[in-house]
Amino acid sequence: MTPEPPLVQLLCDIRSTLHYLKDNGCRGFDCSEAGLQTLARLGRPVEAIVNTSETLDDIRADLGDCTRCQLCKDRTHIVFGEGAADARVVFVGEGPGFDEDQCGRPFVGAAGQLLTKIIAAMKLSREAVYIANIVKCRPPYNRNPEPDEIRECLPFLKRQLKAIQPQVICALGSVAARTLLETETPISRLRGQFHKFMGVPVMPTFHPAYLLRNPDRKRDVWNDVQQIMTLLE
Ligand code: URA
Repeated sequence: MTPEPPLVQLLCDIRSTLHYLKDNGCRGFDCSEAGLQTLARLGRPVEAIVNTSETLDDIRADLGDCTRCQLCKDRTHIVFGEGAADARVVFVGEGPGFDEDQCGRPFVGAAGQLLTKIIAAMKLSREAVYIANIVKCRPPYNRNPEPDEIRECLPFLKRQLKAIQPQVICALGSVAARTLLETETPISRLRGQFHKFMGVPVMPTFHPAYLLRNPDRKRDVWNDVQQIMTLLE
């Protein structure tokens, strides 16, 4: 793919920074005391999103032993994400399950094994891609993450994406796709075509856990990941 012209890249950066500020409670630039305090509280993360030299290790260090939302109470491990720091493809799931919470790595349970097979079918490896989630701590009883949990966690994923600069993102399942694309549209209608997030093409597809329950949908997922492979050629 040809790189975006600098002006388009700049506009994408401005857009993602404005989204980041919105996600963190900024509701305008009225220079009121409350608005200035919101900006002051954000401090380093705002610089970070503008600063493309931030590394994944910097972001992990900034996340620390996170207590920004209630998911910290029941987690065993934070699942930050793993893979190549310069991956061309980033897979984004919903949030850690039991197995991932136990070992601190994304997609290692039954759904993870299927994802590993999908990645291999794309002639890639887990080491060559990057795998992360919308939230980094396991929601109890595997419920969907709540909006306030996503609001706290998403800025870190955005910074990871900014650091990695992938050519394409694969959103796994409804929560990932609808969060990244800021839509309520069902995954069945989102999948199969590219959308954009932070200027990067996003292919939504069915979650591997859904595929385990609905194997007849594997054909759709294969169709979606083939489009990713074509984009990477
Ligand atoms: N499901 C997800 O969405 N993410 C994981 O890491 C594991 C299962």
